[in-house]
Amino acid sequence: MDSTPPPSLATVTLKPKRDESIRRKHPWVFSGGIKHIQGNPQAGDWVRVCANKGAILGWGHYAPSASIAVRMMSFDESCPNKEWWMRQIASAVQVRRDLNLFQSEDQNACRMVHAEGDGMPGLIADFYNGVLVLQCHTPGMHRALPILSEAFQAALGPALKGIYDKSTKTLVKNGGEASEDGWAWGHAPEGHFATEHGHRFLIDWEKGQKTGFFLDQRENRALLGSLSQGKKVLNVFSYTGGFSIYAMKAGALEVHSLDSSQRALDVCEENVALNAFPPEQHKSIAADALEFLKADQLSDYDIVVLDPPAFAKRASARHAAVQGYKRINLRALQGMKPGSLLFTFSCSQAVDDALFTNTLVAAAIQAGRTVRILHRLHQPPDHPVNVFHPEGSYLKGLVLRVDD
Ligand code: SAH
Repeated sequence: MDSTPPPSLATVTLKPKRDESIRRKHPWVFSGGIKHIQGNPQAGDWVRVCANKGAILGWGHYAPSASIAVRMMSFDESCPNKEWWMRQIASAVQVRRDLNLFQSEDQNACRMVHAEGDGMPGLIADFYNGVLVLQCHTPGMHRALPILSEAFQAALGPALKGIYDKSTKTLVKNGGEASEDGWAWGHAPEGHFATEHGHRFLIDWEKGQKTGFFLDQRENRALLGSLSQGKKVLNVFSYTGGFSIYAMKAGALEVHSLDSSQRALDVCEENVALNAFPPEQHKSIAADALEFLKADQLSDYDIVVLDPPAFAKRASARHAAVQGYKRINLRALQGMKPGSLLFTFSCSQAVDDALFTNTLVAAAIQAGRTVRILHRLHQPPDHPVNVFHPEGSYLKGLVLRVDD
């Protein structure tokens, strides 16, 4: 299949000065920056993007009902074709191959495509030991599925067993049409396992959150493991127990995993069994995190992990998100014992490093605790940040030592 567009393609012309960020290769065209549209593009069509005076800036996928009206795929004169897709996917796979993230028995799960970070806005592809789970966020990306499938098969070869399309929710959220989640190519058994730094996990892409697992915390989980021997650990917002399994394997005395989703905790317990840990070393707590933190039960733990879902999904929600982060961290800092460690995270794109650190400082002042920053944490290299799209740097974390 060749995706070369017909010459009748639509042209999006930008208002004066609105070409500046695109010339700096920032990939988003906001609907407010558009002067006029020539032609009648539909959701998912390729459009040519031009500056006010007509210079071609590049090509992108059109999404009429979204505030980001065009996501730029290329900054060239010619529209991306089949060779372009093959090259993009091969390059994304090569980055992970060079990082040794998916080829060994001990390490076979990673993010294979990280949207803007890999020059493919709208596409998330997570690889779990032979199964690639795709989430398309735009109709244009979803329409590219056949060519993506071909490109992944070529780039991964026999390492690829199946491609599962899990785009229903992400597409509808962005104005696309619902399709059924399901296999786009090949298949794999239900009850599928992947290994991360030697830790085994059951991956439930069908019913689990996002693509089934949170690959972005891999290196931060390893750091937690390195500090957990002989410790009592509380993992709040645990999902299926990523941090918990690392702590247990490293010899933690006891680990408690807390989440509001019973389903996530059921998988967490399967993961405990899968790694052959004695069940008495682990306890699942199905509860609301804030209620639990309020109840003053933290003084028993040496390490507390707080990894909440994104509180701010967009910039307009930033203020409320900061209040949310302050509230949970204040509770944690009020209750933790002297000498304990807090691993605290934000995955909100709209809350940057400085704002997150300031929020923790405010919480420490209010809690009246002396706190030192031991580590500043980020997303791992399979979630790369496009330097022209700093918003892609979404995960931030701090390891704090809580003194008196
Ligand atoms: N740390 C996890 C990922 C956390 S994702 C890992 O490494 O895999 C965020 C989790 O927070 C989800 O599992 C979600 O079910 C849970 N959650 C959301 N709101 C919650 C609340 N109010 N109380 C407890 N858990 C909550």
